[in-house]
Formats: sequence, structure tokens, C-alpha cells
Amino acid sequence: MIDIHNYDHNNIFAKILRNQIPSKKVFENDAVYAFKDINPQAPVHVVIIPKKEFCSLNDFSSNASDETIITLIRSIRKIAEILKLNDGYRIISNVGKTGGQEVPHFHIHMLGGMQLGKIIGS
Ligand code: 5GP
Repeated sequence: MIDIHNYDHNNIFAKILRNQIPSKKVFENDAVYAFKDINPQAPVHVVIIPKKEFCSLNDFSSNASDETIITLIRSIRKIAEILKLNDGYRIISNVGKTGGQEVPHFHIHMLGGMQLGKIIGS
């Protein structure tokens, strides 16, 4: 079962950040890395992650510096611009088992490029 209380240094996104696994970069700054999801759920599906180690949104919002939180939130709009998502997009962060989180490194999904349906899937 996913553990969102103890950071796993060998999770897939940690390996992507260490360049141990390749990824298709969309955006990067000092605090944030964004790359294409390997299994896209929409024509545009990007994963946005902090470079520092946080297990989930709960961990990030509790323990990241204000500067890191602001930088990540501001990155979202920049990434939307890069991807030309002028008509809009959706961001999602799955938290824990019930939320469907599979990778225990905090991430935000950015989805777009088509008209999206209802938010909740089964
Ligand atoms: P979660 O279910 O944790 O919210 O989302 C994890 C996401 O990571 C999934 O959408 C999955 O397709 C993506 N993913 C898993 N492994 C890899 C990988 O090795 N590379 C990339 N680019 N995405 C991955």
C-alpha cells in the first residue's frame, strides 16, 4: 500500500529527478520540474512536481517553504502558457490510497487539449 508519511527515495519521480529514468521535460526552474505523463489521459497530460522531497499534497502544504509553494503555484500558469492551453485546463492532485495516488512524490496532473468531462471517475 502507498505510504504517504515516509518519503521513499526510490519512487519513480525521485528517479526521474535524478535522471535515472528518462522523462520528456516541459518546464523546469529551481524548485519545479514538469514532464509528460507516460500514460496520458488527455491530449495534454503533464506531471508537475517539486524538486524537493514531499510525499503528498499534505506533506507539501505543511512542510514546504512559502517560497517553494508560491513558485510551484506560479509555475502552473507558465506551463499552461508553454503548452498553449489558452482555453483552459484541469489540475488534479491525488492524495493517498483513497485519492488514487500511485507515486508517493507530491505531484499535480495538468490535463487539457480536449473538452474534459466530469471531475470524478470511479
Ligand atoms: P498518481 O496516480 O500517483 O496521481 O499519478 C502517477 C502518474 O505517474 C500516472 O499518471 C502515471 O502514468 C505516471 N507515471 C508513472 N510512471 C511514470 C514514468 O516512469 N514516467 C512518466 N513520465 N510518468 C509516469
